Amino acid sequence: MQAFTYTGLPTRVIFGIGTLDKLTAEVERLGVSRALVLSTPRQREMVEDAARRLGALAAGIFSEAAMHTPVDVTERAMREVERCGADGIVAIGGGSTTGLGKAIALRTNLPQLVVPTTYAGSEMTPILGETEHGRKTTLRNPKVLPETVIYDVSLTLELPVKLSAVSGMNAIAHAVEALYAQDRNPVVDLMADEGLAALARALPGIVAKPDDLDARSDALYGAWLCGICLGSVGMALHHKLCHTLGGMFDLPHAETHAVILPHAMRYNTNAAPAAAAKVARALGAGDAARGLQDLARRVGAPVSLREIGMTAEGIEPAVAQAMSNPYWNPEPLVETRIRELLERAFHGSDA
Ligand code: NAD
Repeated sequence: MQAFTYTGLPTRVIFGIGTLDKLTAEVERLGVSRALVLSTPRQREMVEDAARRLGALAAGIFSEAAMHTPVDVTERAMREVERCGADGIVAIGGGSTTGLGKAIALRTNLPQLVVPTTYAGSEMTPILGETEHGRKTTLRNPKVLPETVIYDVSLTLELPVKLSAVSGMNAIAHAVEALYAQDRNPVVDLMADEGLAALARALPGIVAKPDDLDARSDALYGAWLCGICLGSVGMALHHKLCHTLGGMFDLPHAETHAVILPHAMRYNTNAAPAAAAKVARALGAGDAARGLQDLARRVGAPVSLREIGMTAEGIEPAVAQAMSNPYWNPEPLVETRIRELLERAFHGSDA
């Protein structure tokens, strides 16, 4: 066996159906008495309900969280932290809301309790991406890792099917890249395998019956495991390309992952045959890249960059940016092959 280093993440995790009932007890357990509750505008009602449950423990609500954690939004939230004398953060929502909580924690060191309602997995990572003046920068800092995460499957029942599908593909991408990460280890491999299989099983079930509790439970469980993968080992070509495309063209995060993943898998299949075999097995497919694209198609996720708002003129600058910032990838980066990958992803060609 290859030598490895493993560091466990210290977050306390509560998983189940109806676990939001434990919110007050968990906030108290953190020693928080004046929580600022965060959400996006769309989930304001959900957090008003949570704030009611918290009663006097909720000092305020800030519901302006936005995709890619814009610094100006964080600055407004910081003013709210000061105004209400918050001594802790409760973030309820997807990666955007979690990102805002992390950005506040980075600046204040306040404890965070996160209640994820998508499959993005940010709650399990010490990673924060922030956007300012159209540039997204990513940092890794243990200060931004949440202290407590409550996974309540019932809060995901309302996640629209389309969003569930792309968010699930986003989670699968964390597991796929963990399987061929340079610093991979056997524990993360197990989680990647299990997370991928749980999501591959769950997503078609959610599409068929969006309020299926078993499928929703499997998906959230898989998302948790895939989030740990993302937080534990380094990502490669796929995440770097999605980061580049998201930052340059403001493409929607989860949708970009769904489109790029099969093509990134194809790029790396020869260089990472063991990972490709595991992905294929978890998907019940003969070929990893094809299996990922078939799953995306089956659950109605987008398969081309064109359909999610990119224009053909963007391909060359994206190739240039991807090549200008060298990073480790199982298969060395070759400009002509990266261009070909992006062209195929742009048109939605078979992976
Ligand atoms: P999101 O948080 O932006 O959510 C998308 C929309 O769905 C929002 O309007 C939200 O309010 C709504 N929504 C979420 N859950 C819902 C539910 N259960 N019911 C109804 N509506 C719901 O999307 P996302 O894909 O979860 O997160 C994307 C962001 O997270 C990006 O900024 C990305 O960079 C970041 N992210 C960060 C990490 C990390 O480790 N730092 C990991 C993954 C994603």
